[in-house]
Amino acid sequence: MISLSSKDFLETPIEDYIISSEKVAHVQMGNSAEHALLVLTKTGYSAIPVLDSKYRFRGLINAQRITDAILGLDHIEYERLSDIRVEEIMEKDLPLIHINERFQKALDMVINQNFLCVIDDEEMFMGILTRRVVLKQLKKQIYQLKK
Ligand code: AMP
Repeated sequence: MISLSSKDFLETPIEDYIISSEKVAHVQMGNSAEHALLVLTKTGYSAIPVLDSKYRFRGLINAQRITDAILGLDHIEYERLSDIRVEEIMEKDLPLIHINERFQKALDMVINQNFLCVIDDEEMFMGILTRRVVLKQLKKQIYQLKK
């Protein structure tokens, strides 16, 4: 069995571990909050990326942001869902990881993020790297070291 040293393992490219963009549920700029809520509810994901027409990463949307946007004083204004665009309420200020980065960097970043959005030089969305996948790889490596 091929076994990597810890240092080599930390240096492996994240590309080996990402869920590629075509398998990632997403919404597009211009989509309504209603559509985003439908996708989030149907898929069961906590948050999904917002992409533009060129497939560039623009932000993240989650159910909490959507609900927050339609909170009235004493009730939830569901009727407003179709008038709100995802870009008005998405989260834009979040750390992204470049496709050429190494495992070590991802490990540092997933401590604070459930999953990382992966981009290339042109900010094209390449996919996501989840904390679950990072932990799985880490576990595999630790078990190999114990042998
Ligand atoms: P998991 O580690 O599979 O529980 O995924 C953690 C989070 O990553 C999910 O709640 C989603 O926000 C996101 N995620 C994972 N897989 C996908 C996918 N195929 N499409 C969109 N988002 C995903």
